Amino acid sequence: MAKLAHIGLGSNLGDRKAILDGAVAQLQQTPELIVRSVSTYHETKPVGGPAGQGPFLNAAAVLETTLEPITLLHRLQEIEADAGRVRTVHWGERTLDLDVLLFGDEIIHTPELSVPHPRMGVRRFVLVPLEETTPDARDPLTGRSISELRANLDRRPSYLALKGWWEHPEKSPAYLRIVRELDGIGLSLRESLQLDDSHDCPLAVRFEPYELLERMVQWLDSRHWSGLGDQWLITDFSLREILLNVASHWTANWETQFWSLIARWNEQLPMPIQPTFLVYGIRSWGGPRDAEYNYLSRDLPCLRLESKAIDEEASEILTACAATRT
Ligand code: ATP
Ligand code: CA
Ligand code: CA
Repeated sequence: MAKLAHIGLGSNLGDRKAILDGAVAQLQQTPELIVRSVSTYHETKPVGGPAGQGPFLNAAAVLETTLEPITLLHRLQEIEADAGRVRTVHWGERTLDLDVLLFGDEIIHTPELSVPHPRMGVRRFVLVPLEETTPDARDPLTGRSISELRANLDRRPSYLALKGWWEHPEKSPAYLRIVRELDGIGLSLRESLQLDDSHDCPLAVRFEPYELLERMVQWLDSRHWSGLGDQWLITDFSLREILLNVASHWTANWETQFWSLIARWNEQLPMPIQPTFLVYGIRSWGGPRDAEYNYLSRDLPCLRLESKAIDEEASEILTACAATRT
């Protein structure tokens, strides 16, 4: 059965318009697919990768295809190769880049292919052209439409939630670097609770749960942060993580507790500001922590980091923050 696939196109080397036109023509000549629509071409600044690259032309296209997702990826890679794409440096300049953004409502995680595209929800240069073609298409990970994801990036202030960083003293320098380079406002749970380096004590043991939660929610009260303009707010925790942390110490049946907490909390407390995106570091998919991940990320775009050096993580996060604006 044919499915709708959404792809992103980009070029920042050579005759960019001719290269994108050529890629669309090659897609049209592929027997197992029909090109349903193509966005206009958008000029964008490069983000991430080596300095000194030229600007991109970015576009999105909607395909109807009977190809399997991996076969579609291979077809896209052939078209990239025909355009003279050479893979040298990570996020380097390229004649043509074709990414699978969505493939129906499929969620795929293999070493070769991740769908939805893992960084799609934090990239303005991807969402803006995609919104032109299919504003109502849904991201199966967050349940949000493309328009909603794009509007999320326009929301101010921008808020970066670094899930679980408060627990890791070795991440403090990276946290400080992120706050500094974004010229943002940092809220550190680690600092506020004066956790020392040796601390390995569950929050719920040290603090009365409601007191702790209320403190967090007061901190994140959206009314306090409405005047930040284009400045970023950065926290070394996510509110849901604290909820989960507290709830899981009450009872083994934390799922029920979690939702009753949220219900109770919605009635009584001010609205906390929602992250623009959540940074979630985890080693691999399919582990026992996937359920936890689903609760934390439900409707939020996430940047899921692979295992890397902390400094590389910080660079990847800063690139993602820049991409939300570009
Ligand atoms: P980014 O993925 O951050 O946009 P990029 O497009 O520059 O970076 P590439 O060098 O083009 O990255 O691709 C690296 C690898 O990503 C490819 O070899 C491919 O196997 C893999 N990949 C995983 N998921 C996808 C996807 N949804 N679309 C395209 N490539 C993917
Ligand atoms: Ca890409
Ligand atoms: Ca790519």
